[in-house]
Amino acid sequence: MSGNPTKKQPAAWLHAFFDLLFPRLCVVCGRLLSHAEKFICITCDINMPRTRHHLQKNNAMEKLIGEHVFIQRATAFFYYRKGSNYCNIIHELKYKGRKEIGMAMGRKLANEIQNSGFFDGIDAIVPIPLHRDKIRQRGYNQSEWIAKGIAEVTNIPVNSTVVARKAYGSQTGLSAPKRLENVKNTFDLYQPEQLSGKHILIVDDVLTTGATVAACISTLLPVCDVRISVIVLGISSI
Ligand SMILES: [Zn+2]
Repeated sequence: MSGNPTKKQPAAWLHAFFDLLFPRLCVVCGRLLSHAEKFICITCDINMPRTRHHLQKNNAMEKLIGEHVFIQRATAFFYYRKGSNYCNIIHELKYKGRKEIGMAMGRKLANEIQNSGFFDGIDAIVPIPLHRDKIRQRGYNQSEWIAKGIAEVTNIPVNSTVVARKAYGSQTGLSAPKRLENVKNTFDLYQPEQLSGKHILIVDDVLTTGATVAACISTLLPVCDVRISVIVLGISSI
């Protein structure tokens, strides 16, 4: 054993004290978290409706995106079902300023699937960009924080400059064809040579119709010899 065990006591007391002053609640069920639990309690973690798409060839997500553009592989962490408490993860991440949830979920997702070989051969992680007005309003790009978590585990670098969003248009309430029409040509490509010949992993928070991701991929396709895969936290359409 190394270190002095008595030195650990004040830290434990301090944690207990802070937990008392600022109780941390499970983002899914609202239960009080123990010190060992970070943002989701162990029960909600175990019961999270994981897709396990990374274990299935030609999975539902690959089929959905494959309708629009050709990709190497795709996976989602969990099913994002309307009315489910698991939607709170995305809600807190996007609308409550809790960007650290994105990083923690990215880290968790990467840790759980990296042994499957999903990240093998991937050279760069590209988060779906937000328009600068949206970043100014929200303070951060939630997909970039998910990407940071994945990068921390896999050591694959994040590239947040190769694609940019031209204008932000809300997709809420639009039909699938309208969404597709709305997002076409909304991304710009900058210095594509930096990703020539590389395998890029696109990261988004939730995949609904696949239109936004497909539009981003279409923007990246002119990059010479590029291959593209996709990873998201939640998938809502299937
Ligand atoms: Zn919980």
